[in-house]
Parts: sequence; structure tokens; C-alpha cells
Amino acid sequence: MAWFDDLKTPRIKSQVSQRASRVPEGLWVKCTSCGEILQSKILKDCLQVCPECSFHFRMTAAERIRSLTDEGSFEEIAEDLVSTDPLEFDDRKPYRDRLRAAAVSTGVRDAFVIGKAQLGGLPYFLGVFEFKFMGGSMGVVVGEKVTRLFERAAAEKLPAVVVSSSGGARMQEGILSLMQMAKTTSALQRLREMGVPYISILSDPTTGGVAASFAMLGDVILAEPGALVGFAGPRVIQQTIRQSLPEGFQRSEFLVRHGFVDRIVQRKDLATELRSWMWRLGRQNCEFEPSVVRPSSRESGTSSVSKRTKKVASKKSKSKG
Ligand SMILES: [Zn+2]
Repeated sequence: MAWFDDLKTPRIKSQVSQRASRVPEGLWVKCTSCGEILQSKILKDCLQVCPECSFHFRMTAAERIRSLTDEGSFEEIAEDLVSTDPLEFDDRKPYRDRLRAAAVSTGVRDAFVIGKAQLGGLPYFLGVFEFKFMGGSMGVVVGEKVTRLFERAAAEKLPAVVVSSSGGARMQEGILSLMQMAKTTSALQRLREMGVPYISILSDPTTGGVAASFAMLGDVILAEPGALVGFAGPRVIQQTIRQSLPEGFQRSEFLVRHGFVDRIVQRKDLATELRSWMWRLGRQNCEFEPSVVRPSSRESGTSSVSKRTKKVASKKSKSKG
């Protein structure tokens, strides 16, 4: 079981610091939006945002965690959970093989990574989707991890944050996948009753059962620019209702105008904005240490962001343990 040994040793913590360095230098990427040819290293330094047109590329789970946490503060939870293939599902390829291949290519064991972290010294629970793991689909493991995230946040009275990027329920786990919508939602309800904040961040794409459950239930819902957010895809809707859809339908800009999303936040501002929301919503009911500094006037604006971004970008690989 060589694939299993591969997974056993590297934890997300070490990946967070090492992963980026595996990308060979001098690799070029063509911007999907403006067509500009970009050096992948520059793109990485810009948090995967095109410096020419601000197009937001998708991030890996490790990159996302690195961008929203203080260096070295992320402690992963429940990293050992793996799907047992409850339906013994086979399509063109056995589900077990798909899981194995996805785990080897992404370095995570399922499509969701959770942990306790700090952002600007503020402790919180963070969960991020890994879209490259079977389209970020939600099966039993993802549902369980989302639930544990909310339960831990409730137990420790600390904010919960989920960054979604998912195609929805995982077909290979059938009805069990759909049940995760109810399970995660009821765990979230307990958090809500305690008045502990939950902030949902929607990135491209957030669709299906994830959009139809906890992703849309944030006390505050933030979205990245241009993210596709919806339940069914535009093509399915168009074929069903036999009408052409309005310009920009299901993109975050459209959803802000229609009250589905609270704010669109550029990725470079996301960490600052997130910390500010956690503080504002959590200072009454959350157990923040007295030493946690109140965000200085307007969370000190852009200067702290650029400092953070630079720090993240220049971060060197750190050996684990
Ligand atoms: Zn571009």
C-alpha cells in the first residue's frame, strides 16, 4: 500500500509550508480571462490572482490555509478520516481507485481540510475545500469534517469559517452524500444558538449540495470576485425553463445585487476583512483571550494586508516537527 504510506507522513501542516516549493520555477500560465502569459511564481506571490486583470484563479487547500492564517499556526483536525466506500460504487472506475488517485495527486485524504488556526492572533476554526479532490465533492467524510468544525467551534466558543469550492454532493456515495446537508446544517444550528459566529466564504465554484446547505448559511457571506455560485448549473436551468438567462447569472457580482451574498472581497483583502468580521461578530460571545488585540482603526487598512501578503509570499519552507 505505497499510496497509503505517501499519505501517512506528510500532514497538511508541512504541506502548507512545502507545497509551493514543489512548483518548478519558470513555469508559465496563461490567464483564462485576459490571455496574458504569467510566470507561475509571480502568480503564486499574488495569491493566484492575475496581476494584469485581477482574475482569481482557484487555490489549493494548502495555499488557501496559508493565505488566511498566521504562519505556523494551523493545527489540522481529523486528518485521518477516509471514505470507506459504503456503497462499493463502481462506474467506469471503482470509487476506491478514484479516491486513491485523488489522494495521491492532491496530498490530502478527502476534499475538505479543517483545523484550528490564528489570524492576526485571533484563534478560530477554519475549513477549506480542496477542489482538485474529486471536484471538492461532499461525501460522508466531508460532511463529518464540516460537522466537527462546527462542534469544535461551539465547544471552544471560537468563530468558524468555511471557504467553499465544491461541485456539490458526491455521486459515488449516493443518498449518504445528500444526508450531509441535513447533518451539517443541524450542527450549525447549535453554533447559532450559542451566538458564535460562522463566516462563509464562497470561491469559484460553489454549487450543488454545498451551496444548498452550510455555504449559504453564514452570519456573513463573503464571495470572491467572479465566483460561480448556485445550485444547478446555468445550462441545466436554461434547458429546464427554456429562457435565456441574464448576463452574469450566478456570478458573485449578480448575487450581491440580488441579496444572496453580503460582500465581494478581493483575495488580497480577504485575511484583513475576515479577521475584522470575526472580531466584530465574536467579541461578545467568543472566548478570545484578553491578550488578543482589538483591530486597530479600521483593521489598519491596506498596509497590513500588503505586509501579510509579502510575508506569506516570501515564506521559506519550514521543516516539520
Ligand atoms: Zn488576466
